[in-house]
Amino acid sequence: MKTTLKTNMTVKEICEGFVYNELEGKGLFGLSGKLTIQPEYQRNYIYAEEGRETAVIDSILKGYPLGLIYFHKVNDDTFEVLDGQQRITSIGRFVNEKFAIKDENGMQQNFSGMAENKKTKIWETKLLIYECEGEESEIKDWFKTINIAGIPLRNQELLNAVYSGSFVTLAREEFSNRQNANIQKWGAYISGSANRQDFLERALEWVSKGNIEGYMTLHRHDKNITELKKYFNSVIDWVSSVFTDVENEMRGLEWGRLYEEYHKKAYSPAKVSADVRKLYGDPYIKNRKGIFEYILGGSVDTKLLDVRIFDETIKRAVYAKQTSEAETKEKSNCPHCAIGHDANKSKIWSFGEMEADHVSAWVKGGATSAKNCQMLCKTHNRAKGNR
Ligand SMILES: [Zn+2]
Repeated sequence: MKTTLKTNMTVKEICEGFVYNELEGKGLFGLSGKLTIQPEYQRNYIYAEEGRETAVIDSILKGYPLGLIYFHKVNDDTFEVLDGQQRITSIGRFVNEKFAIKDENGMQQNFSGMAENKKTKIWETKLLIYECEGEESEIKDWFKTINIAGIPLRNQELLNAVYSGSFVTLAREEFSNRQNANIQKWGAYISGSANRQDFLERALEWVSKGNIEGYMTLHRHDKNITELKKYFNSVIDWVSSVFTDVENEMRGLEWGRLYEEYHKKAYSPAKVSADVRKLYGDPYIKNRKGIFEYILGGSVDTKLLDVRIFDETIKRAVYAKQTSEAETKEKSNCPHCAIGHDANKSKIWSFGEMEADHVSAWVKGGATSAKNCQMLCKTHNRAKGNR
């Protein structure tokens, strides 16, 4: 790969013919049309979300270095930005009045309203640009290397770059496009941002059962994303029909896995909804995220809910009371041992040999308070189960 360092290119030249596409969330062209700012394999513009675009303009005004920018020289008249598209897009958006910065007095200031000397300073700022010439594979390898700095690439952003082609282009139009009206609905179940490829990543993870890279390799040159869309919509439709209420804790759950495990079972949405509300009102449930899988699985696996257990103070108090009563009656302090007929019927267990038990089981409505606590020997407690 051949590289040439250019030190004389100004912001004015780079921003000549700058086009920003709101729909795609991308800075498209610059350098009088010769520069493609965000080629297909690049991630979307994220500096606005990250609150970093004003920092780029502040840096220019203060004369701080903006760092190296890399162009891929496709031919004599065509360049693509390899690294630096976020910085260039920030500048292009600012001089095109897409956002304002705060001046020394904390007042909003857009480009056209700035003092002439400040405008000139911005236009005349020179950027440090490396022009790279070489094979596509070599260039992409390089791209992976240099992007380690700055905001790290997400895994899916990297995969999009490595497997760029018709499939990724179509998939991004659907899943990485904030203008897609479905994003808000999907956002109830999926965490992250469309721009950072979180929705695309989930869609691919679900359809591929976790083998995203394998799936992208296989479909790289597909001219449609039918299967991907169908599977994704099946999962979303299933979740939203089984759980008619949308709760915050649903966001980011493993819906793909849950769909595979449970979509063939029939549920009554009205009963499910009542169960969800009842569990949400239960103060002893520590893990609300577990409520959905708990219900899907038939409301048996209480481990998913992380039900709050008795604290040490309650256990000590109940142990002391039970033990002194047992000693008076010369019976075991484990109520189950006390009614038995073996050698343990008068055994006094130590605190460490006993465990707390809900007299009335939690699943049957038993509370986690002292009144509902009894200490049992470990053998009897474990034999009781279903708590
Ligand atoms: Zn016992």
